Amino acid sequence: MQRMPEEDVGQIPRDLRSAWIVAIGTELALGQAQDTNSAWLAQRLAALGVRADRHVVVADELAAIRAVLSQAAAAGDLVLVTGGLGPTDDDVTRAALAKAAGVGLEEDAASVERLQAFFARRGREMPERNRVQALIPRTGLALPNQCGTAPGIHMLLEGTPCYVLPGVPFEMRAMYEAEVEPVVRAAAAGAVLRSRRLHTFGAGESDVGLKIRDLMARGRNPEVGTTAEIGVVSVRINARGRDAAEADGLLDEAEAEIRRRLGPLVYGRDSETLGGVVGERLVELGWTLSTAESCTGGLISQLLTDVPGSSRYFLGGLVTYSNALKTGLVGVDQALLMAHGAVSEPVAVAMADGAARVTGSDVAVSVTGVAGPGGGSVEKPVGLVFIGLHTCGACAPHAFRFGEDHPREVIRMRAARMALHLVRTSLPDPPAARPGR
Ligand code: ATP
Repeated sequence: MQRMPEEDVGQIPRDLRSAWIVAIGTELALGQAQDTNSAWLAQRLAALGVRADRHVVVADELAAIRAVLSQAAAAGDLVLVTGGLGPTDDDVTRAALAKAAGVGLEEDAASVERLQAFFARRGREMPERNRVQALIPRTGLALPNQCGTAPGIHMLLEGTPCYVLPGVPFEMRAMYEAEVEPVVRAAAAGAVLRSRRLHTFGAGESDVGLKIRDLMARGRNPEVGTTAEIGVVSVRINARGRDAAEADGLLDEAEAEIRRRLGPLVYGRDSETLGGVVGERLVELGWTLSTAESCTGGLISQLLTDVPGSSRYFLGGLVTYSNALKTGLVGVDQALLMAHGAVSEPVAVAMADGAARVTGSDVAVSVTGVAGPGGGSVEKPVGLVFIGLHTCGACAPHAFRFGEDHPREVIRMRAARMALHLVRTSLPDPPAARPGR
């Protein structure tokens, strides 16, 4: 078979900047399996300064794959494809690639040998149906698969380098690292993309966006954008530099400016969490914390104990879901429950006071509310949440309406995060005296 010399097909434009990622699989298109390959590839490309402009998921259908491949080759500097290289009839990526290039498929002798060796190592004969996996478009090159059967394919499609990798995630990763990354690294040399995220709580996405609007203008370097997830608004900063130091310098400048504008709304960076940040502050102060939770059912305790070493400051949480336990465990007066109902400011205050008293903690936070979807009323609708915050011997109630139309899990997570936010913003700057109880 006539093959192009490797150096011809291996070339990627030296100003490589943008890539398309195409994930092939009917199970992905139907939402029955998650496309994790594309996210992984996009992150690896980004680390080399190459931006994945487009992710496309397409079912195992020849015409559809062919069309997407042609579109991707026309638009991107590089096309990475995963999936559909298996031995069964529904694996049509090879054929679609050949059609898109306008060439036929030919058996690659080296790939047949590797397939036979793969089965021989397992003490088996190669099933005849696997032979189809050694079919490679005539102008392409087979890429060896170190961990599975399907060879990958590398070829130029309308002049654009295109790498087709197996769908199985660990096979895909191994082949990318061995066959694709070194070429991309060489072509992308001189450009590095570094990212950072700053997390805020306490303001909506539009409010945060307004404060940093000019920094979010299109086409700037660094590129700044926001994402929101149940009360947490994160500011994502992507900086492109000639090397890591230059990109990091741009990130540092942008971070300082964003922190200056957003002030105490910013609670952390990258992997830092509200629970972790609260914990650090408590450690600095030498203070302890406890919780009494009703509608959040232990969620605050979970967010706190997700953090290794949380036993240094978190004494424990009481899940007082029933009125009986509100009375029995944290001493909420029955008369208070009768007069105001379990979802009320006085009960939230009594729960927090009770948790501090029972556990001996310096700070205690409580939550009582209507998480829904049922159980709401005109006076106490779904989403109504009271948080009690006991600190420095005093207790303050906070009332929230998290939205009647919100699902239960969103209301509960918002309430738990709000409780941690209130604890964080109520703590004095260290060093400070230990509060009286
Ligand atoms: P092989 O022949 O080695 O199985 P393949 O290229 O034929 O590779 P597929 O048949 O498309 O791979 O998929 C194999 C497995 O990998 C399936 O379980 C599939 O759900 C999973 N998979 C495929 N594509 C992705 C993806 N983009 N993200 C995560 N998992 C994927």
